[in-house]
Amino acid sequence: MYKVGIGYDIHRLVEGRPLFLGGIEIPYIKGLLGHSDADVLIHAICDAMLGAAGESDIGEKFPDTDPKYENIRSTELLKMIVHLLEQRGWRINNIDAIIVAEEPKLQPFKKQISNNLAKILRISEESISVKGKTNEGLGEIGQKQAIASFAVVTLVRDTPR
Ligand code: MG
Repeated sequence: MYKVGIGYDIHRLVEGRPLFLGGIEIPYIKGLLGHSDADVLIHAICDAMLGAAGESDIGEKFPDTDPKYENIRSTELLKMIVHLLEQRGWRINNIDAIIVAEEPKLQPFKKQISNNLAKILRISEESISVKGKTNEGLGEIGQKQAIASFAVVTLVRDTPR
């Protein structure tokens, strides 16, 4: 049995914060603002995984009003979701994701990001694709005020429960 989930997230870019995408710190003059490390790619992937499994969303699972999650690395949230899905008998079939960022150039980091995520998710590198797009200078993303991410995840389970 297969299930598909979709995830989307956007965070504001501000000075004085490190930039984390897919758990990798990317050198840039700004970083993403949020309660956690604001890793927009991981948040989109988490929501796609939860959506596919019929399990609400990260806002509900890890409320930003809970001090426990303040400044938490999003890789830790991802690990908790992987664990939850494994308990439910789900395996990740594949992930396809897009980061929409005017800056910085993501090409040099794409491989490192997908390798890092594959390791955390315990899937092969061919099972995850991370694409970088600009917003052609349009809107808040185009003005370098924000970075957004989209993700689609398919989960597979051998026997229906
Ligand atoms: Mg988020």
